[in-house]
Amino acid sequence: MTVLVLLGAPGAGKGTQAPALAARLGVPILASGDLLRTAVAEGTELGREANRYMSRGQLVPDETIVRVFLKRLDAPDALGGAILDGFPRTRIQAEALDRALAAAGRRVALAGYIDVPLEDLVTRMANRRICSANGHVYNLVSNPPAIVGICDLDGSKLEQRVDDEGATVRARMVEQVPPLLEVVDYYRSLGVLKTVDGREDIESVAGALVSAIQPGPA
Ligand code: ADP
Ligand code: ADP
Repeated sequence: MTVLVLLGAPGAGKGTQAPALAARLGVPILASGDLLRTAVAEGTELGREANRYMSRGQLVPDETIVRVFLKRLDAPDALGGAILDGFPRTRIQAEALDRALAAAGRRVALAGYIDVPLEDLVTRMANRRICSANGHVYNLVSNPPAIVGICDLDGSKLEQRVDDEGATVRARMVEQVPPLLEVVDYYRSLGVLKTVDGREDIESVAGALVSAIQPGPA
């Protein structure tokens, strides 16, 4: 049973790396951004609240995301473990996660921090494209699809995320990097942090993360 947290600034490569790790461990990916984008698309109360923050590049309030995400983590498919992509993003969220896991006799086995310099992140996000059906991640420069505008894996149309445009990208850096660094420090202090060089190509980053996975009880 392995709970693995993927940490990184917006655009660092969390969503890109999650599938290989999930396949390796045989556990689902729980991606907070996907969860929120689904709620926005469905126009639920959560979606309407979340969108007010997401469209400005701000973090959704801890109380809201903790409630929604921990409920998702409790679902039967995650009982054997999960890859957490995008949660926790603040120290408050990290502590709430630890409390919830501890109550169930679980813990975070590894926090993989994908470290990428800020100047690279802006370019990555500008060139990011996402498949409309399943959120598969592409990049016009570093990871293009075989056919322009079409997902290799499911044939759906590729789209640009609304928050990957202009001012929102810069706001996300300002708003989200400082709390991320606190979360990194938190997991370092617990002795479960593994930092990988996110400037390497996608395969090398995947290799570094996979080699960090320690088999054993968690
Ligand atoms: P995150 O989920 O952390 O926001 P993504 O996985 O969506 O990041 O990656 C952001 C963008 O950078 C995407 O366009 C992705 O294809 C690209 N990307 C991811 N990892 C790398 C890498 N190691 N080198 C170059 N580009 C990458
Ligand atoms: P990125 O790929 O840029 O890291 P995500 O897809 O993970 O972004 O998240 C998109 C947006 O959803 C964030 O900019 C933020 O507004 C919101 N969000 C996602 N996860 C969280 C979280 N754990 N806490 C607060 N807000 C979140």
